[in-house]
Amino acid sequence: MTEITSLDDSTIAKIAAGEVIERPASVVKELVENSLDAGANRIDVTVSAGGTDLIRVADDGVGMDEANAVRAVEQHTTSKISSIDDLEAGVGTLGFRGEALHTIGAVSRMTIETRPQSGADVGTEVRVEGGDVTDVAPVGRAPGTTVTVTDLFFNTPARRKYLKRDATEFAHVNRIVSRYALANPDVAISLTHDDNEVFATAGTGDRKGAVLSVYGRDVATSMIDVEAEPDGPITAIRGLVSDPETTRSGTEYVSTYVNGRYVRAGELRDAIVSAYGKQLAADRYPFAVLFLSVPPDTVDVNVHPRKMAVRFDEESAVTDAVEAAVREALLDHGLLRSSAPRG
Ligand code: ADP
Ligand code: MG
Repeated sequence: MTEITSLDDSTIAKIAAGEVIERPASVVKELVENSLDAGANRIDVTVSAGGTDLIRVADDGVGMDEANAVRAVEQHTTSKISSIDDLEAGVGTLGFRGEALHTIGAVSRMTIETRPQSGADVGTEVRVEGGDVTDVAPVGRAPGTTVTVTDLFFNTPARRKYLKRDATEFAHVNRIVSRYALANPDVAISLTHDDNEVFATAGTGDRKGAVLSVYGRDVATSMIDVEAEPDGPITAIRGLVSDPETTRSGTEYVSTYVNGRYVRAGELRDAIVSAYGKQLAADRYPFAVLFLSVPPDTVDVNVHPRKMAVRFDEESAVTDAVEAAVREALLDHGLLRSSAPRG
């Protein structure tokens, strides 16, 4: 007869980690979101070997005192909501589940160095190994937080085995950090891989400047502004799209955001593509960085922490508005030969 037993806390944490932390890029995503939530003006991301050896995210945000730094790695601790009512009221932060640091700590060796912006002239270093806090000590540092994660999945060999080549893992990291850098031009965000700076945005608030840092000059100069305030379910559509000649074969450079949050939404991508009509060669995709503002109660962006899915109450009205806004921008710049939509 098989016996039913309860799982211990560390096993539960490792299983939970499998849900949220799939690869180095998932760690980077959680840490960068925390830095943004902490109000950072500057975020420096450093990785080695695609993030499989080392991931470090340093910020100049609000920081934590010793008690909070220790609490942050415990299970389901968050400073962002205190009850389900806060959730239903709509949260203005990226994270609120209070599980990221706990789960990352369960499947790696993690060090948090942090010092609050006010009220402490010394910082705290918390070391975590496979979920156990092994050391808490004072450390001298500037206000802000640095989280260092090494040996990801060292204690979950099955998961470690599924990691891809460093170059592939780094491509995922690059995509994630690029997404946040494009969405937050007022924050200086840098990415360094194996001692090479991949990009660094200035944090001056200029969207085109951020595109220039992340995608380079050729792409940036091909981008035109999209700016619309349609009636209906979208209150504003803003951002940049490339001219029809500046394209790639994959969809990864079509980035869409809803109320500031990146979403992977095929319906929005298709709407952007169809605005170009026949101007776009078959199987080519433009560069796009497009921000949609919609009333929070008409959209669900919290469908799943990892899938980045989105559900609109009035999907076709939303996609029509996006297509119209992009087409109008292209027409304004004389970039469409005819206004006939593609098929
Ligand atoms: P969540 O982001 O869902 O609250 P996390 O596990 O990611 O959960 O973080 C737990 C808590 O630790 C946060 O609510 C926040 O109070 C604190 N924290 C995490 N990262 C930072 C940071 N970079 N700066 C300041 N506080 C942080
Ligand atoms: Mg978080």
